[in-house]
Amino acid sequence: MKIGVLALQGDFSEHINSIRRIGVEAAEIRLPHQLSDLDGLIIPGGESTTIGKLANAYDLLEPLRAFGRQKAIWGTCAGAIFLSKDAHRPQHLLGLMDIVVERNAFGRQVDSFEIDLDIPALCQDDEQHLPYHAVFIRAPLIERVEQDAQVLAALPDGRIVAAQQGRLLATSFHPELTQDDRFHRYFASLARESTGGPELRQE
Ligand code: GLN
Repeated sequence: MKIGVLALQGDFSEHINSIRRIGVEAAEIRLPHQLSDLDGLIIPGGESTTIGKLANAYDLLEPLRAFGRQKAIWGTCAGAIFLSKDAHRPQHLLGLMDIVVERNAFGRQVDSFEIDLDIPALCQDDEQHLPYHAVFIRAPLIERVEQDAQVLAALPDGRIVAAQQGRLLATSFHPELTQDDRFHRYFASLARESTGGPELRQE
């Protein structure tokens, strides 16, 4: 099991640390051929416009789309924007998830905030139902989920901040900036599922 983290820009090293902490091999990904032996890929927070431009410059857009049609991808914050099909601005998007996002929906950097969320999907084996402490930094909102995408987490007022579509995951917040590894474990389980079948595994 090996999870890659797209390392073009943003807080990729924090994701690498979280992945290693849960005992899974992690690798920084910058070139298309490096995708070939991965079970899943994380696209970190940063600036979605910059990540899109660099992905385009390194000929990564199509390889990333092909990867996401077969395997697990998780985008956090800027990564979630990059996974979406619509961010209301002209910028490179992978368009893999049927979600529409609003960038910087909570205002400027100084309007960053932290809040405890109830995320049932993370609590399946956890009878205590511990809240999830979520960190938002110039975060996007997931304005709406369409077609096969589903809401995974929302703020108390109902605004959507995490969505899932099969093996694809988008969070407005930054699990890699906390010591709570439940989201990374959840993603690792999706990645494991996506490479379970003999038609995808070539070993
Ligand atoms: N504001 C950034 C964007 O729109 C996302 C910020 C983040 O990833 N923390 O791309």
